[in-house]
Amino acid sequence: MPDREPCNKKLEGKVAIITGGASGIGEATAHLFADHGARAIVIADIQDEKGEKLAASIGQNRCACTFVHCDVTKEQDVESLVQSTIQLYGRLDIMFSNAGVMSKSQQTILDLDLSSYEKLFAINVGGVAASIKHAGRAMVEGNTKGSIICTASVAARIGSDRHTDYVMSKNAVLALMRCASTQLGAHGIRVNCVSPGPVATPLLCEALRMGVEEVETSFARSYCLKNNGVLKVKHVADAVLFLACEESQFITGHNLAVDGGFRLS
Ligand code: NAD
Repeated sequence: MPDREPCNKKLEGKVAIITGGASGIGEATAHLFADHGARAIVIADIQDEKGEKLAASIGQNRCACTFVHCDVTKEQDVESLVQSTIQLYGRLDIMFSNAGVMSKSQQTILDLDLSSYEKLFAINVGGVAASIKHAGRAMVEGNTKGSIICTASVAARIGSDRHTDYVMSKNAVLALMRCASTQLGAHGIRVNCVSPGPVATPLLCEALRMGVEEVETSFARSYCLKNNGVLKVKHVADAVLFLACEESQFITGHNLAVDGGFRLS
């Protein structure tokens, strides 16, 4: 007999913010958080229509769910997002800092476009820094032993033949996570990353100019796990849930790869 029953509702009573929550990995995570009994979920994104629709569908009968327009490159937006969450729901337990983009053009070192690089860094790095900063402040002020999770990428480990700016940005996310986990640990706040392998979301399909099936087929041979299907957003959301909930209460400063042992062939 197990010591205790397996917990089906891992986030009971928790209040969570998900940036980039309107699509892909963020959207799947919002659904999973709701399934696990979160009290409230705030979806923050620049895609208003998608975000509103998702919040309405989750909020209908599963948990409180609101959409907030938030451009993570604007610190004021991020600060207001956190403040309005506290005003509405009284606390913040989980910040999933997930909003991110890839450059539209190829970015090898020989044709690196520094203005595209700056725009990408403002979202992928500045946005994560602002999210950790304001969530961290709210958790410290509220004396909440919260969990902050950031989305890095397998690309940070393996590099890329064309997305130099993206790889640099995801390594910066890992660096941010390591600093923040060291600095916020004294307050009982955990900071970790998930590093997904390639998942066929709008971000990747648009960057590679491929459909979902084509993306999945083209990466299938690169996993060590050969017979476990392809990587889906649900696999990443499961890892985020683990880092958000109390099952990971002694884990901080960790980068959890969700990539089936991905390697370039
Ligand atoms: P996605 O395009 O489905 O979702 C990204 C979301 O971020 C979108 O809803 C978009 O509107 C939002 N966003 C973009 N700029 C924003 C801004 N300035 N402010 C607020 N929101 C903004 O793609 P996804 O694959 O789900 O991406 C989520 C995260 O996962 C990103 O950080 C991405 O870098 C990372 N990631 C993706 C993959 C992959 O293969 N799809 C692999 C590794 C890491």
